[in-house]
Amino acid sequence: MRVLVIGGGVIGMTTAYYLLQAGMTVTVLERRENAGLETSAGNAGLYSPSDAFSWASTSALKLAIRSLINPDLGIQYKLRFDPMLWRWSVSFLGQCRHSAWRRNSEAKYRLAEYSLYMLNKLRDDTRLDFDVSDQGIVYACRDTAALEGLKQHFNFLEDRGLKLQHLDQDALIEKVPALNANAKIYTGAIYSADCKTGDSEKFSQALARVCMDSGNCQIEWGANVERILTDKKTISSVCASKGEFRADAYVLAAGPQSGFLARQVGVRLPIYPIKGFSITAPIINDEMAPGPGFDDTERLVAMSKFGNRLRIASSAVFDGFDESHQPKDFQAILRLAREVFPDAADYDKAEYWAGLRPMTPSSKPILGLSSVSNLFLNVGHGHLGWTLSCGAGKVVADIVAGTPPETETEAFALGQ
Ligand SMILES: Cc1cc2nc3c(=O)[nH]c(=O)nc-3n(C[C@H](O)[C@H](O)[C@H](O)COP(=O)(O)OP(=O)(O)OC[C@H]3O[C@@H](n4cnc5c(N)ncnc54)[C@H](O)[C@@H]3O)c2cc1C
Repeated sequence: MRVLVIGGGVIGMTTAYYLLQAGMTVTVLERRENAGLETSAGNAGLYSPSDAFSWASTSALKLAIRSLINPDLGIQYKLRFDPMLWRWSVSFLGQCRHSAWRRNSEAKYRLAEYSLYMLNKLRDDTRLDFDVSDQGIVYACRDTAALEGLKQHFNFLEDRGLKLQHLDQDALIEKVPALNANAKIYTGAIYSADCKTGDSEKFSQALARVCMDSGNCQIEWGANVERILTDKKTISSVCASKGEFRADAYVLAAGPQSGFLARQVGVRLPIYPIKGFSITAPIINDEMAPGPGFDDTERLVAMSKFGNRLRIASSAVFDGFDESHQPKDFQAILRLAREVFPDAADYDKAEYWAGLRPMTPSSKPILGLSSVSNLFLNVGHGHLGWTLSCGAGKVVADIVAGTPPETETEAFALGQ
Protein backbone atom coordinates (compact mmCIF):
# COMPACT_ATOMS: atom_id res chain seq x y z
CA MET A 1 0.00 0.00 0.00
CA ARG A 2 1.32 3.46 -0.93
CA VAL A 3 0.72 6.23 1.63
CA LEU A 4 1.38 9.93 1.15
CA VAL A 5 2.02 12.06 4.25
CA ILE A 6 1.49 15.83 3.96
CA GLY A 7 3.85 17.65 6.34
CA GLY A 8 7.27 16.73 7.71
CA GLY A 9 7.03 18.13 11.23
CA VAL A 10 7.51 15.84 14.21
CA ILE A 11 3.99 14.45 13.66
CA GLY A 12 4.45 13.77 9.96
CA MET A 13 7.83 12.11 10.54
CA THR A 14 6.66 9.79 13.34
CA THR A 15 3.66 8.83 11.19
CA ALA A 16 5.97 8.03 8.26
CA TYR A 17 8.25 5.97 10.52
CA TYR A 18 5.41 3.79 11.88
CA LEU A 19 3.81 3.44 8.42
CA LEU A 20 7.14 2.07 7.16
CA GLN A 21 7.27 -0.30 10.11
CA ALA A 22 3.81 -1.53 9.11
CA GLY A 23 5.20 -2.43 5.67
CA MET A 24 3.86 0.54 3.68
CA THR A 25 5.61 2.49 0.93
CA VAL A 26 5.68 6.12 2.04
CA THR A 27 6.06 9.52 0.39
CA VAL A 28 6.34 12.65 2.55
CA LEU A 29 5.68 16.08 1.03
CA GLU A 30 7.23 18.89 3.06
CA ARG A 31 7.31 22.48 1.87
CA ARG A 32 10.45 23.37 3.84
CA GLU A 33 14.02 22.21 3.10
CA ASN A 34 14.18 19.74 5.98
CA ALA A 35 12.01 18.13 8.67
CA GLY A 36 10.77 19.84 11.82
CA LEU A 37 11.46 23.43 10.80
CA GLU A 38 8.06 24.91 11.73
CA THR A 39 6.27 24.50 15.10
CA SER A 40 8.47 21.49 15.91
CA ALA A 41 11.57 23.69 15.71
CA GLY A 42 11.40 25.95 18.74
CA ASN A 43 9.20 24.33 21.36
CA ALA A 44 10.14 23.99 25.02
CA GLY A 45 11.39 20.42 24.50
CA LEU A 46 9.38 18.77 27.30
CA TYR A 47 8.29 15.20 26.52
CA SER A 48 5.84 15.29 29.35
CA PRO A 49 2.71 13.24 30.07
CA SER A 50 2.70 15.41 33.21
CA ASP A 51 1.49 18.30 31.01
CA ALA A 52 -1.40 16.33 29.54
CA PHE A 53 -4.07 18.64 30.93
CA SER A 54 -6.61 20.26 28.67
CA TRP A 55 -6.18 24.04 28.48
CA ALA A 56 -9.99 24.40 28.50
CA SER A 57 -10.85 24.35 32.19
CA THR A 58 -12.74 26.29 34.85
CA SER A 59 -9.44 28.01 35.71
CA ALA A 60 -8.82 29.17 32.11
CA LEU A 61 -10.84 32.35 32.66
CA LYS A 62 -9.07 33.05 35.98
CA LEU A 63 -5.76 32.68 34.15
CA ALA A 64 -6.95 35.07 31.43
CA ILE A 65 -7.77 37.66 34.11
CA ARG A 66 -4.40 37.06 35.86
CA SER A 67 -2.64 37.67 32.55
CA LEU A 68 -4.34 41.08 32.24
CA ILE A 69 -2.80 42.05 35.59
CA ASN A 70 0.57 40.40 34.89
CA PRO A 71 1.63 40.79 31.23
CA ASP A 72 4.74 38.67 31.98
CA LEU A 73 2.46 35.61 31.72
CA GLY A 74 2.40 36.22 27.99
CA ILE A 75 -1.23 35.29 27.40
CA GLN A 76 -2.74 37.72 24.89
CA TYR A 77 -6.12 37.50 23.24
CA LYS A 78 -6.08 40.05 20.43
CA LEU A 79 -9.63 41.16 19.71
CA ARG A 80 -9.99 41.48 15.95
CA PHE A 81 -12.29 40.63 13.08
CA ASP A 82 -11.58 36.91 12.92
CA PRO A 83 -14.68 34.66 12.69
CA MET A 84 -12.40 31.61 12.90
CA LEU A 85 -11.14 32.79 16.30
CA TRP A 86 -14.68 33.59 17.50
CA ARG A 87 -15.99 30.15 16.51
CA TRP A 88 -12.98 28.51 18.14
CA SER A 89 -13.41 30.58 21.33
CA VAL A 90 -17.10 29.69 21.70
CA SER A 91 -16.21 26.05 21.29
CA PHE A 92 -13.33 26.41 23.79
CA LEU A 93 -15.72 27.88 26.38
CA GLY A 94 -17.97 24.86 25.85
CA GLN A 95 -15.06 22.60 26.81
CA CYS A 96 -14.31 24.51 30.04
CA ARG A 97 -16.89 22.58 32.13
CA HIS A 98 -15.22 20.43 34.76
CA SER A 99 -16.68 17.23 33.30
CA ALA A 100 -15.29 18.07 29.83
CA TRP A 101 -11.90 19.01 31.29
CA ARG A 102 -11.73 15.65 33.10
CA ARG A 103 -12.69 13.71 29.99
CA ASN A 104 -10.28 15.58 27.71
CA SER A 105 -7.35 15.48 30.15
CA GLU A 106 -7.84 11.80 30.88
CA ALA A 107 -7.86 10.85 27.16
CA LYS A 108 -4.85 13.05 26.54
CA TYR A 109 -2.93 11.59 29.45
CA ARG A 110 -3.53 8.02 28.24
CA LEU A 111 -2.20 8.92 24.79
CA ALA A 112 0.79 10.79 26.28
CA GLU A 113 1.71 7.81 28.48
CA TYR A 114 1.49 5.50 25.48
CA SER A 115 3.57 7.98 23.51
CA LEU A 116 6.32 7.98 26.14
CA TYR A 117 6.35 4.19 26.00
CA MET A 118 6.63 4.33 22.19
CA LEU A 119 9.44 6.91 22.38
CA ASN A 120 11.45 4.66 24.69
CA LYS A 121 10.96 1.78 22.28
CA LEU A 122 11.90 3.91 19.27
CA ARG A 123 15.09 5.01 21.05
CA ASP A 124 16.01 1.37 21.70
CA ASP A 125 15.39 0.52 18.05
CA THR A 126 17.08 3.49 16.37
CA ARG A 127 19.57 5.07 18.82
CA LEU A 128 18.59 8.51 17.48
CA ASP A 129 20.57 11.50 18.72
CA PHE A 130 18.27 14.39 19.64
CA ASP A 131 19.94 15.79 22.77
CA VAL A 132 17.56 13.80 24.91
CA SER A 133 17.82 13.96 28.70
CA ASP A 134 16.36 11.37 31.09
CA GLN A 135 16.58 13.63 34.14
CA GLY A 136 12.85 14.26 34.42
CA ILE A 137 11.00 17.56 34.77
CA VAL A 138 10.68 19.88 37.76
CA TYR A 139 7.54 22.03 38.25
CA ALA A 140 8.65 24.78 40.63
CA CYS A 141 6.44 27.03 42.79
CA ARG A 142 7.27 30.37 44.35
CA ASP A 143 5.03 30.13 47.44
CA THR A 144 3.39 27.57 49.69
CA ALA A 145 -0.16 28.27 48.53
CA ALA A 146 0.85 27.79 44.90
CA LEU A 147 2.62 24.55 45.78
CA GLU A 148 -0.48 23.23 47.55
CA GLY A 149 -2.61 24.21 44.55
CA LEU A 150 -0.20 22.45 42.20
CA LYS A 151 -0.26 19.28 44.31
CA GLN A 152 -4.04 19.21 44.07
CA HIS A 153 -3.90 19.87 40.34
CA PHE A 154 -1.51 16.95 39.83
CA ASN A 155 -3.70 14.62 41.97
CA PHE A 156 -5.78 14.07 38.86
CA LEU A 157 -2.86 12.51 36.95
CA GLU A 158 -1.42 10.77 40.02
CA ASP A 159 -4.78 9.02 40.44
CA ARG A 160 -4.36 7.77 36.88
CA GLY A 161 -0.88 6.39 37.43
CA LEU A 162 1.59 9.25 36.91
CA LYS A 163 4.45 8.89 39.38
CA LEU A 164 5.45 12.18 41.01
CA GLN A 165 7.69 13.28 43.86
CA HIS A 166 6.99 16.28 46.06
CA LEU A 167 10.14 18.34 46.70
CA ASP A 168 10.61 20.83 49.51
CA GLN A 169 13.12 23.65 49.07
CA ASP A 170 16.15 21.55 50.06
CA ALA A 171 15.13 18.61 47.90
CA LEU A 172 14.58 21.00 44.99
CA ILE A 173 18.12 22.41 45.33
CA GLU A 174 19.44 18.85 45.47
CA LYS A 175 17.61 18.06 42.22
CA VAL A 176 18.63 21.34 40.54
CA PRO A 177 21.92 22.41 42.18
CA ALA A 178 22.15 25.37 39.78
CA LEU A 179 19.36 26.98 41.86
CA ASN A 180 21.60 27.14 44.91
CA ALA A 181 22.60 30.77 44.33
CA ASN A 182 18.91 31.73 44.16
CA ALA A 183 17.62 29.22 46.67
CA LYS A 184 14.91 31.53 48.03
CA ILE A 185 13.02 32.03 44.76
CA TYR A 186 11.14 28.72 44.98
CA THR A 187 9.43 27.14 47.99
CA GLY A 188 9.27 23.68 46.47
CA ALA A 189 8.34 21.68 43.42
CA ILE A 190 6.67 18.64 41.95
CA TYR A 191 9.06 16.33 40.12
CA SER A 192 8.19 13.91 37.34
CA ALA A 193 11.10 11.48 36.98
CA ASP A 194 9.82 9.55 33.94
CA CYS A 195 9.39 12.58 31.68
CA LYS A 196 12.12 13.53 29.22
CA THR A 197 13.44 16.56 27.42
CA GLY A 198 14.81 16.64 23.90
CA ASP A 199 15.04 18.64 20.70
CA SER A 200 12.10 17.77 18.45
CA GLU A 201 13.63 19.45 15.39
CA LYS A 202 16.77 17.32 15.69
CA PHE A 203 14.57 14.27 16.36
CA SER A 204 12.44 14.93 13.24
CA GLN A 205 15.53 15.32 11.05
CA ALA A 206 17.20 12.19 12.43
CA LEU A 207 13.96 10.24 11.98
CA ALA A 208 13.69 11.51 8.38
CA ARG A 209 17.13 9.98 7.71
CA VAL A 210 16.04 6.68 9.27
CA CYS A 211 12.93 6.70 7.05
CA MET A 212 14.91 7.44 3.89
CA ASP A 213 17.49 4.75 4.74
CA SER A 214 14.67 2.19 4.89
CA GLY A 215 14.56 2.21 1.07
CA ASN A 216 10.74 2.45 1.08
CA CYS A 217 10.43 6.16 1.77
CA GLN A 218 10.69 9.13 -0.53
CA ILE A 219 10.77 12.58 1.05
CA GLU A 220 10.21 15.57 -1.22
CA TRP A 221 11.63 18.68 0.44
CA GLY A 222 10.40 22.02 -0.88
CA ALA A 223 7.13 20.42 -2.02
CA ASN A 224 4.32 22.80 -1.11
CA VAL A 225 0.95 21.07 -1.36
CA GLU A 226 -1.36 23.44 -3.19
CA ARG A 227 -4.41 21.38 -4.12
CA ILE A 228 -6.00 18.13 -3.06
CA LEU A 229 -8.13 16.60 -5.83
CA THR A 230 -11.06 14.30 -5.09
CA ASP A 231 -13.23 11.98 -7.09
CA LYS A 232 -16.49 10.84 -5.41
CA LYS A 233 -15.34 11.59 -1.84
CA THR A 234 -11.97 9.89 -2.41
CA ILE A 235 -8.68 11.69 -2.90
CA SER A 236 -7.39 11.01 -6.39
CA SER A 237 -4.14 13.01 -6.20
CA VAL A 238 -2.31 15.84 -4.51
CA CYS A 239 -0.86 18.74 -6.52
CA ALA A 240 2.30 20.20 -5.04
CA SER A 241 4.88 22.70 -6.26
CA LYS A 242 7.00 19.71 -7.34
CA GLY A 243 4.32 17.89 -9.29
CA GLU A 244 1.28 15.67 -8.87
CA PHE A 245 1.43 12.74 -6.44
CA ARG A 246 -0.87 9.72 -6.12
CA ALA A 247 -1.22 7.16 -3.35
CA ASP A 248 -3.75 4.69 -1.95
CA ALA A 249 -4.09 6.60 1.32
CA TYR A 250 -3.20 10.14 2.45
CA VAL A 251 -2.30 11.37 5.95
CA LEU A 252 -2.70 15.06 6.72
CA ALA A 253 -0.06 16.19 9.25
CA ALA A 254 0.46 19.82 8.26
CA GLY A 255 0.35 21.28 11.78
CA PRO A 256 -1.36 24.70 11.98
CA GLN A 257 -1.89 24.71 8.18
CA SER A 258 -3.96 21.52 8.24
CA GLY A 259 -7.31 23.36 8.36
CA PHE A 260 -6.73 25.14 5.02
CA LEU A 261 -5.86 21.90 3.23
CA ALA A 262 -8.69 19.88 4.78
CA ARG A 263 -11.26 22.50 3.84
CA GLN A 264 -10.44 21.94 0.14
CA VAL A 265 -12.00 18.48 0.43
CA GLY A 266 -14.91 19.56 2.64
CA VAL A 267 -13.42 18.54 6.01
CA ARG A 268 -13.67 21.21 8.71
CA LEU A 269 -10.99 21.08 11.41
CA PRO A 270 -11.45 23.17 14.57
CA ILE A 271 -7.78 24.18 14.77
CA TYR A 272 -6.63 27.67 15.73
CA PRO A 273 -2.97 28.75 15.75
CA ILE A 274 -1.79 29.90 19.18
CA LYS A 275 1.54 31.65 19.01
CA GLY A 276 4.38 31.07 21.45
CA PHE A 277 7.95 32.32 21.74
CA SER A 278 11.26 30.77 22.68
CA ILE A 279 14.91 31.60 22.94
CA THR A 280 17.85 29.22 22.50
CA ALA A 281 21.05 30.39 24.15
CA PRO A 282 24.53 28.81 24.19
CA ILE A 283 25.37 27.37 27.62
CA ILE A 284 28.56 28.88 29.03
CA ASN A 285 28.54 27.22 32.45
CA ASP A 286 26.97 23.78 32.50
CA GLU A 287 26.88 23.55 36.29
CA MET A 288 24.76 26.67 36.46
CA ALA A 289 22.12 25.32 34.05
CA PRO A 290 19.16 23.12 35.08
CA GLY A 291 19.77 19.41 34.42
CA PRO A 292 16.09 18.31 34.40
CA GLY A 293 13.45 20.12 32.38
CA PHE A 294 12.33 23.12 34.41
CA ASP A 295 8.91 24.78 34.56
CA ASP A 296 8.25 27.99 36.52
CA THR A 297 4.56 27.31 37.12
CA GLU A 298 3.79 30.87 38.19
CA ARG A 299 5.40 32.64 35.23
CA LEU A 300 4.39 29.87 32.78
CA VAL A 301 7.92 29.58 31.41
CA ALA A 302 9.44 26.18 30.58
CA MET A 303 13.01 25.24 29.71
CA SER A 304 15.17 22.32 28.57
CA LYS A 305 18.88 21.76 28.21
CA PHE A 306 19.78 20.36 24.77
CA GLY A 307 23.45 19.45 25.13
CA ASN A 308 25.21 22.82 25.16
CA ARG A 309 22.08 24.87 24.41
CA LEU A 310 19.38 26.15 26.76
CA ARG A 311 15.86 26.43 25.28
CA ILE A 312 13.35 28.60 27.16
CA ALA A 313 9.75 29.01 25.95
CA SER A 314 6.59 30.80 26.97
CA SER A 315 3.44 32.69 25.88
CA ALA A 316 0.10 32.02 24.26
CA VAL A 317 -0.95 34.73 21.81
CA PHE A 318 -4.21 34.52 19.86
CA ASP A 319 -3.29 36.51 16.76
CA GLY A 320 -4.07 34.46 13.67
CA PHE A 321 -1.35 33.00 11.47
CA ASP A 322 1.14 35.80 12.04
CA GLU A 323 4.48 34.24 13.01
CA SER A 324 6.45 37.46 13.32
CA HIS A 325 8.16 38.50 16.55
CA GLN A 326 9.72 41.57 18.11
CA PRO A 327 12.39 41.95 20.80
CA LYS A 328 9.71 42.87 23.39
CA ASP A 329 8.09 39.44 22.97
CA PHE A 330 11.13 37.88 24.66
CA GLN A 331 11.48 40.26 27.61
CA ALA A 332 9.61 38.07 30.11
CA ILE A 333 11.57 34.97 29.10
CA LEU A 334 14.91 36.79 29.35
CA ARG A 335 13.94 38.39 32.68
CA LEU A 336 13.17 34.98 34.16
CA ALA A 337 16.32 33.36 32.71
CA ARG A 338 18.53 36.12 34.14
CA GLU A 339 16.72 35.95 37.49
CA VAL A 340 16.84 32.18 37.97
CA PHE A 341 19.83 30.86 35.99
CA PRO A 342 21.86 34.05 35.42
CA ASP A 343 25.25 32.38 34.82
CA ALA A 344 24.06 29.40 32.79
CA ALA A 345 24.03 30.80 29.26
CA ASP A 346 25.07 33.76 27.15
CA TYR A 347 21.63 35.32 26.78
CA ASP A 348 23.01 38.14 24.58
CA LYS A 349 23.68 35.49 21.94
CA ALA A 350 20.22 33.90 22.17
CA GLU A 351 18.35 33.03 18.98
CA TYR A 352 14.74 34.21 18.97
CA TRP A 353 11.86 32.12 17.60
CA ALA A 354 8.06 32.26 17.32
CA GLY A 355 5.79 29.39 16.32
CA LEU A 356 2.12 28.41 16.18
CA ARG A 357 0.55 25.66 18.28
CA PRO A 358 -2.12 23.83 16.21
CA MET A 359 -4.76 23.96 18.95
CA THR A 360 -8.23 22.39 19.11
CA PRO A 361 -10.81 23.76 21.61
CA SER A 362 -10.59 20.54 23.67
CA SER A 363 -6.74 20.45 23.50
CA LYS A 364 -7.06 16.92 22.08
CA PRO A 365 -5.54 16.00 18.72
CA ILE A 366 -7.71 14.61 15.93
CA LEU A 367 -6.55 11.16 14.85
CA GLY A 368 -7.83 8.71 12.27
CA LEU A 369 -10.22 8.64 9.36
CA SER A 370 -11.93 11.76 8.03
CA SER A 371 -15.17 11.96 6.04
CA VAL A 372 -13.09 11.44 2.86
CA SER A 373 -12.60 7.71 2.47
CA ASN A 374 -8.80 7.64 2.01
CA LEU A 375 -7.85 10.76 4.01
CA PHE A 376 -6.50 10.15 7.52
CA LEU A 377 -5.81 12.89 10.07
CA ASN A 378 -2.95 13.40 12.52
CA VAL A 379 -3.56 17.02 13.45
CA GLY A 380 -4.32 19.48 16.27
CA HIS A 381 -1.73 18.45 18.86
CA GLY A 382 -1.65 21.96 20.31
CA HIS A 383 0.64 22.57 23.26
CA LEU A 384 1.72 18.91 23.51
CA GLY A 385 2.60 17.71 20.03
CA TRP A 386 6.18 16.73 20.81
CA THR A 387 4.98 14.61 23.73
CA LEU A 388 2.18 13.01 21.72
CA SER A 389 4.23 12.47 18.56
CA CYS A 390 5.26 8.83 18.83
CA GLY A 391 1.90 7.69 20.24
CA ALA A 392 -0.14 9.62 17.69
CA GLY A 393 2.12 8.49 14.83
CA LYS A 394 1.74 4.83 15.82
CA VAL A 395 -2.03 5.08 16.34
CA VAL A 396 -2.60 6.70 12.93
CA ALA A 397 -0.27 4.23 11.19
CA ASP A 398 -2.25 1.37 12.80
CA ILE A 399 -5.56 2.86 11.67
CA VAL A 400 -4.27 3.29 8.09
CA ALA A 401 -2.99 -0.32 8.13
CA GLY A 402 -6.29 -1.60 9.51
CA THR A 403 -4.60 -2.88 12.68
CA PRO A 404 -6.41 -2.23 15.99
CA PRO A 405 -4.42 0.49 17.86
CA GLU A 406 -2.87 -0.57 21.18
CA THR A 407 -4.46 2.35 23.02
CA GLU A 408 -7.96 3.84 23.19
CA THR A 409 -8.58 6.18 20.21
CA GLU A 410 -12.31 6.92 20.20
CA ALA A 411 -11.81 10.21 22.06
CA PHE A 412 -9.63 11.49 19.21
CA ALA A 413 -12.00 10.85 16.31
CA LEU A 414 -13.06 13.85 14.22
CA GLY A 415 -16.09 15.49 15.86
CA GLN A 416 -15.39 14.12 19.36
C1 LIG B 1 6.24 28.02 22.35
C2 LIG B 1 5.87 26.56 22.20
C3 LIG B 1 6.29 25.64 23.16
C4 LIG B 1 5.93 24.30 23.06
N1 LIG B 1 6.43 23.42 23.97
C5 LIG B 1 6.11 22.11 23.87
C6 LIG B 1 6.65 21.17 24.80
O1 LIG B 1 7.46 21.51 25.67
N2 LIG B 1 6.26 19.87 24.70
C7 LIG B 1 5.37 19.45 23.74
O2 LIG B 1 5.02 18.27 23.76
N3 LIG B 1 4.89 20.31 22.80
C8 LIG B 1 5.24 21.62 22.84
N4 LIG B 1 4.76 22.50 21.91
C9 LIG B 1 3.83 22.00 20.87
C10 LIG B 1 4.55 21.29 19.72
O3 LIG B 1 5.68 22.00 19.31
C11 LIG B 1 3.59 21.12 18.54
O4 LIG B 1 2.38 20.54 18.97
C12 LIG B 1 4.19 20.20 17.47
O5 LIG B 1 5.45 20.68 17.07
C13 LIG B 1 3.26 20.13 16.25
O6 LIG B 1 3.91 19.33 15.29
P1 LIG B 1 3.34 19.20 13.82
O7 LIG B 1 4.22 18.27 13.10
O8 LIG B 1 1.87 18.95 13.88
O9 LIG B 1 3.47 20.69 13.24
P2 LIG B 1 4.71 21.36 12.49
O10 LIG B 1 5.97 21.14 13.21
O11 LIG B 1 4.32 22.77 12.21
O12 LIG B 1 4.80 20.54 11.15
C14 LIG B 1 3.89 20.69 10.10
C15 LIG B 1 4.69 20.63 8.81
O13 LIG B 1 3.81 20.69 7.72
C16 LIG B 1 4.41 21.45 6.72
N5 LIG B 1 3.37 21.99 5.84
C17 LIG B 1 2.36 22.84 6.19
N6 LIG B 1 1.62 23.12 5.10
C18 LIG B 1 2.16 22.43 4.07
C19 LIG B 1 1.85 22.32 2.70
N7 LIG B 1 0.81 23.00 2.15
N8 LIG B 1 2.61 21.53 1.91
C20 LIG B 1 3.66 20.84 2.43
N9 LIG B 1 4.03 20.92 3.73
C21 LIG B 1 3.27 21.69 4.54
C22 LIG B 1 5.15 22.54 7.46
O14 LIG B 1 6.19 23.11 6.70
C23 LIG B 1 5.64 21.80 8.69
O15 LIG B 1 6.96 21.34 8.55
C24 LIG B 1 5.11 23.87 21.97
C25 LIG B 1 4.70 24.77 21.01
C26 LIG B 1 5.08 26.11 21.10
C27 LIG B 1 4.65 27.08 20.03
